[in-house]
Amino acid sequence: MTAALRELYQDVVFDHARTPRNRRRPARSSHQAQGHNPLCGDKVTVHLDVADGVIRDAAFEGEGCAIATASASLMTEALKGKPVEEAERLLEGFHHMVTDPQAAAHPELGKLEVLAGVREFPVRVKCATLAWHTFHAALHGGHAPVSTEDGQ
Ligand code: ZN
Repeated sequence: MTAALRELYQDVVFDHARTPRNRRRPARSSHQAQGHNPLCGDKVTVHLDVADGVIRDAAFEGEGCAIATASASLMTEALKGKPVEEAERLLEGFHHMVTDPQAAAHPELGKLEVLAGVREFPVRVKCATLAWHTFHAALHGGHAPVSTEDGQ
């Protein structure tokens, strides 16, 4: 990654951390779950409005570090309007991108690639994946609050 690209990515992450998109309690919400990353103190609640297999709306509430907040913000932007199946593929691609140092580029992730740099900081990976694990729990329901201490 070139220095200029790295800088651009950092700018996007800082922008989403400072001005998170979709940080709100939506009027309609068919699925929700809470997640907690005790290592850092990040807490997130993910709200989804799913109808006919499509994520009509995605939003989050909570407080976290810059990476956790930016990740939740970028995630909700990416999920909105996506068919559930496609959203689950994004989750897999994102997880792969931030955990595998050898990961190839993931063009399907689009803007989410700005978080690829966290894989160089293992402690930050859980901050970046918290919103995604919580999204998964919301989608599949019936889960206790997600904790990154459960091996995630
Ligand atoms: Zn964090």
